[in-house]
Amino acid sequence: MPELPEVETTLRGVVPHLVGRRITGVEVRQRRLRWPVPKQIDALAGRVVADASRRGKYLLFDVAPGAVILHLGMSGSLRVVAAGAGWRKHDHLALSLDSGRAIRFHDPRRFGCVLFCAGDPLAHRLIRDLGPEPLGDGFHAGYLAGVAAGRRGGIKQLLMDSRVVVGVGNIYACEALFLAGIHPRRAAGRVAGSRLETLVAAVKEVLGRSIEMGGTTLRDFLREDGEPGYFKQSLLVYGREGEPCKRCGGVVRRFVQVGRSTFYCPGCQR
Ligand SMILES: [Zn+2]
Repeated sequence: MPELPEVETTLRGVVPHLVGRRITGVEVRQRRLRWPVPKQIDALAGRVVADASRRGKYLLFDVAPGAVILHLGMSGSLRVVAAGAGWRKHDHLALSLDSGRAIRFHDPRRFGCVLFCAGDPLAHRLIRDLGPEPLGDGFHAGYLAGVAAGRRGGIKQLLMDSRVVVGVGNIYACEALFLAGIHPRRAAGRVAGSRLETLVAAVKEVLGRSIEMGGTTLRDFLREDGEPGYFKQSLLVYGREGEPCKRCGGVVRRFVQVGRSTFYCPGCQR
């Protein structure tokens, strides 16, 4: 599933091709995505893409007046192709640009979406209640302490709540908690402030590093061959059940927490 680093990598990949370009045509071949592609998308020809940005895992293309809101869902990706290039199976939508290129939205499982927002996209119902960006200044230990206070639920659940902080998916939550030495099930309200500070730094490090690695495969990501194969080599606990902990040599364990696999080292995380 595309996580925040892939979405950021996608954004960085499309920005040079998209921003400042005029949309010359729109083709929608499959309207039934997570939500139907609205007719306003078909009417974008002639608009200039003034800016492209990201909020959580939503990509926002400013086509003033209004914005395109795009989410990659479970299996979505964007590719920059020559406008006349052949369509692949599961290519659902294309924006042709005055550069002679087109941006295609590809999504086999169709949990992604392409929506239009007439006003400020940050006020859109899908976006307005999102917590701060994990790599932004709004996500800091004091903030997290305020949110965690009195909460009995596990710290991992809190980290993965998009109203608390956006884009910390399961892999990143496991990795950050390992780096910070905090047990995933520890009650959020019972993690000391100094440890929350370590945790916030760990979240930023894990996501930042992943984005850097995503950046190195950017060319591939935008070509036909697709998936960014970043990050896997450097995972410390995620997907390593039964293998030795890279820090203490103990055994990495897994349990299921709120329906998701949690990996941790009992020796290193308390
Ligand atoms: Zn360990």
